[in-house]
Amino acid sequence: MSTPTPRAPMLATAEALATLLSAASPIAGTESIPTLAALNRVLATDVTSPLDVPPMNTSSMDGYAIRTADLTAQGNNRLPVSQRIPAGHAPEPLKPGTAARIFTGATVPLGADAIVMQEQTEAAGADVAILHSPQPGEWITAQGADIRSGSVVLPAGTRLTPQALGLAASVGCAELVVRRRVKVAVFFTGDELTMPGEPLKPGAIYNSNRLTLRGLLEKLGCEVSDYGIVADKLDATRATLREAAEAHDLILTCGGVSVGEEDHVKPAVEAEGRLAMWQIAMKPGKPLAFGAVRRAAPRGETVAEPSASASAPGAAETFFIGLPGNPVSSFATFLLFVRPFILTLAGVQAVAPRALSLRADFTQSKADRRNEFLRARINPAGGLDLFPNQSSAVLTSTVWGDGLIDNPPNHAISAGETVRFFPFSELLN
Ligand code: AMP
Ligand code: MG
Repeated sequence: MSTPTPRAPMLATAEALATLLSAASPIAGTESIPTLAALNRVLATDVTSPLDVPPMNTSSMDGYAIRTADLTAQGNNRLPVSQRIPAGHAPEPLKPGTAARIFTGATVPLGADAIVMQEQTEAAGADVAILHSPQPGEWITAQGADIRSGSVVLPAGTRLTPQALGLAASVGCAELVVRRRVKVAVFFTGDELTMPGEPLKPGAIYNSNRLTLRGLLEKLGCEVSDYGIVADKLDATRATLREAAEAHDLILTCGGVSVGEEDHVKPAVEAEGRLAMWQIAMKPGKPLAFGAVRRAAPRGETVAEPSASASAPGAAETFFIGLPGNPVSSFATFLLFVRPFILTLAGVQAVAPRALSLRADFTQSKADRRNEFLRARINPAGGLDLFPNQSSAVLTSTVWGDGLIDNPPNHAISAGETVRFFPFSELLN
């Protein structure tokens, strides 16, 4: 009897992710671009406010600016109106013993210490009767109440959302220093793959992963070079890797990372660089290949020896990640591993998706020894329903679902129990 080949030990999901992320660091290269064109880019430097916001004391009501000390305790509070201050106009200091007509957003005149809203006053010719005793500071938004001059309003590593751009603009930033986009080369292996629009020959299937993965990469703001379908041949795979290594930060492949005779990605990467094959104890997913591909030496230079560990490639190498071919496996491994890896390269500070704790409105009595990522959706009662077919080939589940339940190894789920749920709004962001 022959001895069975020992199986590689399976890595826990968290361990695999930590190893992967420890190899990544933000890419070099920044550019200064107009704030108006910076949506979804990643800040390379802190944005510091050069001014107080609001830049002066402003009124938060339509009413009258007064000096509280001018009001008598007896309530005989008829004051002459000495000026009118609309928003956007610089006021005179408030004459003692008078009130200033003022509007929302207008500058509070020097000397005034409260605003009385117009509903608590009565106009009386050139005077105004004040019918309320305000506290000092009432209805005044103090200069710098939102932002102090010199404070960091957006730290380096922030992904620029619409509201972050608004905040940058509120402190007068017309340009922002952002990191250049991460350059990703992607290709697909499998002689069975056909592009939609082409006739489907016997034994063929459509290349759905090309659309899914390109969409995911584009959503992350990557600059994508799509090499399309590469034949299941060692030479063709090696040639594409060599070409892709030249001008990219990461080469992403899909399919061909198992150990079948038609799986050429593994030997191709080993020949062109270095590779670690990980069996991750997750479902769907399992095989994930990680490594680097050598870059050709520019004329007159020698390529530095790649280090033994899968560390950040210098100019001498390009990162490589090989995803499994099954559509749900490549989708899930992208979301859980490639997304945080790319965001780290992009210089993003917060790369971990946030999970929700939600009630399972289903029972899954069979525990799996792997960490399952189950496609589920939030029902109107706020609980989770499970897609009935959790096969790694069933792409329908990813469109039906709102996210993935992170079910730990060896754990059955009973209806009513609270589970960890990663909404797609977090994983696809
Ligand atoms: P592989 O990882 O190459 O062994 O592929 C595993 C399964 O995924 C096979 O059934 C393939 O036909 C399928 N597959 C591989 N690549 C793709 C793709 N780009 N689009 C859709 N299905 C794929
Ligand atoms: Mg294949």
